[in-house]
Amino acid sequence: MSIRAKTAYLVECDYPGCSGFYDFLSPTKERAIGTVIADDEWLCLFTSDNKPRLFCPLHLRYMQNSPDDSTTVFFDSDSPATQPTLYALNRFYEDMSLSQPLPKLECEDTILAILQNEN
Ligand SMILES: [Zn+2]
Repeated sequence: MSIRAKTAYLVECDYPGCSGFYDFLSPTKERAIGTVIADDEWLCLFTSDNKPRLFCPLHLRYMQNSPDDSTTVFFDSDSPATQPTLYALNRFYEDMSLSQPLPKLECEDTILAILQNEN
């Protein structure tokens, strides 16, 4: 009998104290990050030294009057209403090729601190 081990990557939320994880195993790190970037319900932004920081649905802003109350609000550089209230966060959003959802207001400070801490 032979045994082959396979490594799989599970994305965990980078928000302090949060134990949220993405319920999908990926064969590579790149694939895991790509999946999160394309997902409407997760936020991915890169630090200035290009490390991904990933945040689960608990930290995202949702549309107030959407029919099912579960639509995230996306960053739009042309629309001040759909930008973070912390202007310093904009440059992280502008670096993304796929538009990313906005954080909840009360999570903006923490997410900015995580993106600016490059360790
Ligand atoms: Zn989380």
